[in-house]
Amino acid sequence: MNAGEGMIRSCGIVAERDGQVISMNYAQIKPVTIENGTGVRVSLFVSGCRHHCRDCFNPETWDFGYGKPFTAETEEEVLRALSPSYIAGLTLLGGDPGEPENQEALLPLLRKLRARLPEKTVWIYSGYLHEDFLPGGRAHCAASEEFLALSDAFQTPTVTHGESSYCGNAPSGCASG
Ligand code: SF4
Repeated sequence: MNAGEGMIRSCGIVAERDGQVISMNYAQIKPVTIENGTGVRVSLFVSGCRHHCRDCFNPETWDFGYGKPFTAETEEEVLRALSPSYIAGLTLLGGDPGEPENQEALLPLLRKLRARLPEKTVWIYSGYLHEDFLPGGRAHCAASEEFLALSDAFQTPTVTHGESSYCGNAPSGCASG
């Protein structure tokens, strides 16, 4: 299925596509950060990462079941945190927000953010390369094209270490560290 086919919508506690529940857990929301992108930002650390890089600072977030369920209330909490004028935008990290199931679950939040607060920027830190999100890529899913289109900065691995690659702030650890 390509982006735009099927429908993602937010229901009570999760996103849903064509009747199939899409759930995601998250580890933490930091309402005021300055280290994950430009300006003062809200950082959302999602759960789940398949890269398992050596020296990852946050291996507990590899588990997709780590942390708390990301609910409609959590979406509103993030949007509220983004509303002050001194907040430049939202940074998504983890874990890996680029995991296909996380892309799907995050898309409703990004849509709401663009609709309500279009002046805010979106930064995404991922262990996947940009080409991984393109059709045929290992992180490509029905949400990928829109997921990329709604982001302003996509931080992909800058360093490879043996057979592992690191997201964002490598090699001292990922953005979640
Ligand atoms: S460094 Fe980033 S990409 Fe690598 S395992 Fe940790 S969270 Fe995943």
